[in-house]
Amino acid sequence: MKLATNLNRLGTETAFSVLAEAKALEAKGNPMIHLGLGQPDFKTPKHVVDAAKKALDDGHHGYVMSNGIPECRQAVTRWIKRRYNADVDFERILIMPGGKPTMSYAIQCFGEPGAEIIHPTPAFPIYESMINYTGSTPVPYDLTEDKDLKFNPEKILSLITDKTRLLILINPNNPTGSFVEKESIDVLAEGLKKHPHVTILSDEIYSRQIFDNKEMPSFFHYPELRERLIVLEGWSKAYSMTGWRLGWSFWPKELVEHVNKLLINSVSCVNAAAQFAGIAALDGPDDSIDEMMVKFTQRRDLIHKGLNELPGVECSLPGGAFYAFPKVTGTGMSGAEFCKKAMHEAGVAIVPGTAFGKTCNEYVRFSFAASRDNISQALENIKKMLG
Ligand code: PMP
Repeated sequence: MKLATNLNRLGTETAFSVLAEAKALEAKGNPMIHLGLGQPDFKTPKHVVDAAKKALDDGHHGYVMSNGIPECRQAVTRWIKRRYNADVDFERILIMPGGKPTMSYAIQCFGEPGAEIIHPTPAFPIYESMINYTGSTPVPYDLTEDKDLKFNPEKILSLITDKTRLLILINPNNPTGSFVEKESIDVLAEGLKKHPHVTILSDEIYSRQIFDNKEMPSFFHYPELRERLIVLEGWSKAYSMTGWRLGWSFWPKELVEHVNKLLINSVSCVNAAAQFAGIAALDGPDDSIDEMMVKFTQRRDLIHKGLNELPGVECSLPGGAFYAFPKVTGTGMSGAEFCKKAMHEAGVAIVPGTAFGKTCNEYVRFSFAASRDNISQALENIKKMLG
């Protein structure tokens, strides 16, 4: 078979192979605590599930508009207005099958040989994978240079050249759990005004998972940048809907038509029942999110303290999302060695830092989307493993 060379440049998500390996060990009778995949361990709120059931009962079983049903896009604009006090045209909102397609389509809009795309490292691995796939030049900014794993706005601005087309930001970040506050985003936004050729892709999928009552510094707060802003958002994390495959994004006017064509050329549309569920989620009460955040805060505190008590392990305090990203080299092991031993000796599935970026050999990612009992047990098992 003669295959396209681009295929060899695609990366993957190691969290899925960690899951497969952990499941295989479990099937052989080895107990396993799963702190690998990043998905909330709560049920989708009942009123959201009911809205999907009703939509199916009402006969919404066919194709719908490729960019999303207008009711769903309008629910998104109402939500943006309520949360960020920004008025946006609902024609610039596209409903996507999850958060991921937005990153893939955005990179396809700009990526080609000669184009530079600035991105964080470590990061959700699909970003670098898609940049490489399009043959464009990845220009990374390294979060591990900062002790709290936060990005530095001046450093990012210094990487911009006349070849830069897209700047990718993820806040709060996966895998580091770091959260950059508004003061730094203000500096970045101010600097970006001087580079009108750069489009911004702001991944805000964890906007509802921010600790210590801090505010989400969304890029919707900067109207002067809105004509070259893409915001990646969705229902997966906030409403525990990872398997529903439902996301939304905001696009520059100029890109809407192109991205709609990418949708038509790949998935046609998102199923209507999921979109009706999405409307119920955005328009409905936020109690489920508040309850989830109480639990996530307790878990964050538990894992942060527990990891720092392990010999040779250092962990900064996660400010958002549900990940802890400790440095483990004080144990004498690389991140990959630590994960392998944790899986086979401690029965804990976690992901090596190198799955998210080349500079993360010393790190591992723990997802704390798991019960407190499981987190405590995992910490106990790893403590024993480390002797
Ligand atoms: N962005 C980030 C930073 C993520 O961590 C993830 C999922 N882990 C996504 C986007 C994709 O979300 P979805 O599952 O809705 O495609």
